[in-house]
Amino acid sequence: MNNPPPPPPLAALDEGRRLLAQPLLPLVRLLNLLYLTGPFGTIEELLTQLSEPVETAGLRYPDPRAVLNPLLPQLRELERLKNNDLSAREICDEEGSPLSPLEALELWVSQAVLTRELEALNSLLCAPCRCTLCCTGPSPEMRQEFFEIPLTAPETRLFPLPVIEPLAPPPMQTQQGPAIYHWRSGWSLILPKASTCPQLATDGRCRIYRERPQVCRRPQIFAYVIEKINDGERGRETTLSRFRRRNNLLAVWDCPYVRALQEEIARFAELSGLEPVFRSNKG
Ligand code: SF4
Ligand code: SF4
Repeated sequence: MNNPPPPPPLAALDEGRRLLAQPLLPLVRLLNLLYLTGPFGTIEELLTQLSEPVETAGLRYPDPRAVLNPLLPQLRELERLKNNDLSAREICDEEGSPLSPLEALELWVSQAVLTRELEALNSLLCAPCRCTLCCTGPSPEMRQEFFEIPLTAPETRLFPLPVIEPLAPPPMQTQQGPAIYHWRSGWSLILPKASTCPQLATDGRCRIYRERPQVCRRPQIFAYVIEKINDGERGRETTLSRFRRRNNLLAVWDCPYVRALQEEIARFAELSGLEPVFRSNKG
């Protein structure tokens, strides 16, 4: 169950590959520049001017307005700079020094745009793979005792499972089947060895696909333009809203489409101004 199937023929991945070849961040960076240096009060004002094809970073966007319009909620964050409405969140460089409001805002918008872009991309690439790796616990030969799917509180209602309130990271091998764990820092769906998510149907499909948890929408290419800084200690509440610049795109080898499209993913990262990082998660 845990050995992912071989990747499907490349032709089956064509829709996702088309998005990989045309990343959004080069266009978004150009928009940032135009907005911040131009006389535009709102992002929408600028978008109404983008009626012609745009070329940037060696890419051609035939209809930039159509591409950018769905990103308005993410792009409107830029308006904060002109409105002097900067939030209290802090974004640092790799050494921990705070970045300027402009640099911080650009990173914030890039992270939000890339997260949304990768959600669509990962979904298009996952569907043809007929793989359930993300929805099953470790197989018996794996060293991990369990896999963990972080959930928000409302998402826990999607799973008809017992809720466990551990005082500390527990010995999962004593847990017989999947369960929801309520840590002091949040919620997780825990899938012990050889178990499956209760929403995984026998035909390999997700029974709650349209309302599946956020984490299930985002494997296995991840946006790390910035990363939240936390105390790294499970069970301790954190109210910090601090982030560190990473400028990475993480792709996980376990996934069949990541293995099949390594070069295209690396190129996507490069065009997006990010360092591609490939690594294994399970084994
Ligand atoms: S909710 Fe759906 S996508 Fe998420 S682990 Fe369960 S079956 Fe897989
Ligand atoms: S995201 Fe990749 S590893 Fe996860 S189920 Fe889809 S194809 Fe398999």
